Amino acid sequence: MGKTPYGAPQDSVAVSLNVNENTHPIPEAVITEIVAELTLAVRGVNRYPDRDFVKLREALAGYLGHGLTASQLWAANGSNEVLQQILQAFGGPGRSLLSFTPTYSMYPLLADGTDTQWVPVERPADYALTPGFVSEMLRLHAPSIAILCGPNNPTGTPLDLDTIAAAYDAFDGILIVDEAYHEFDAERESAVTLLQGRPRLLVSRTMSKAFAFAGVRLGYLAADPAVVDALKLVRLPYHLSALTQAAAIAAIRHASEMLATVADIRVQRDRLAEALSDLGYLVHPSGANFLLVGGFANPTATFEALLAQGILIRDLGIPGHLRITAGTENETTILINALTALTSAER
Ligand SMILES: *Cc1c(COP(=O)(O)O)cnc(C)c1O
Repeated sequence: MGKTPYGAPQDSVAVSLNVNENTHPIPEAVITEIVAELTLAVRGVNRYPDRDFVKLREALAGYLGHGLTASQLWAANGSNEVLQQILQAFGGPGRSLLSFTPTYSMYPLLADGTDTQWVPVERPADYALTPGFVSEMLRLHAPSIAILCGPNNPTGTPLDLDTIAAAYDAFDGILIVDEAYHEFDAERESAVTLLQGRPRLLVSRTMSKAFAFAGVRLGYLAADPAVVDALKLVRLPYHLSALTQAAAIAAIRHASEMLATVADIRVQRDRLAEALSDLGYLVHPSGANFLLVGGFANPTATFEALLAQGILIRDLGIPGHLRITAGTENETTILINALTALTSAER
């Protein structure tokens, strides 16, 4: 009672910048390739798919690099399902999940659904996590599982490797790093580089954002093979359909074309940040494909005024703030023009 499901609005509007999707379509040549792979896969759907999706795990290991092998890779229908499986395996009654808020709204829901105690720790005013702060909080609360989101949704805040390493050493539970937006943060190394010698470190990724594959539902994880074995105990048999496996393998084969829009999205993000700063808003530093923006006198009114013009952004209930996904050049122009007009009408 009194609980609410995950509920990002799914209105169909001209400019949809509310759930951090890649708003660019995938390249036509890759579509053709994926369809060819799907055709082959459909011929085999009278049989169950490879339960351990070995080919896909090999492809994901190859994409991540750093000498990873299929035994260290796992995948599910979106990284939300990967995270749910981790909580099913390592959470539960008497166990706890800690994260630093504001952060991804699914974490408390996943804790709740697995009867795991949710331990939110508020971030400092600038939302940035430091080795000292994170270590102190993990030593204090000693959770069963901690999750660091980097870059963090909804604030965009990047996450440094030294903070992750310090977090790992500060407690003896499972440490998850959620790298859903990693490809947009090209300057920073992945937590995958820290896996060697850290069997309690789990790095989750998704094809939903930079890869422009949200509709396919493919999230994945890199970790110690023992963690992967534990997840096999909780997954449903054949949880990844033959069609999902085929589509994901084809897309990874064309990773560089699939990721070709990332550079432009970063340009649009930075252009949006500059325009909004010039309008007097507070733009938080972002390593992702979205911005958390403060300084709105009435965020709900701004959200509604934009929606009335066919522009959907996100109101997450953070006082004075709204979150905006960086879209195509045209979408960004429409948004900047609309916010410029609204702001000058207000002042
Ligand atoms: C979008 C997002 C996910 C990804 O979800 P999928 O289930 O892979 O689509 C995971 N974590 C964070 C922080 C996100 O913003």
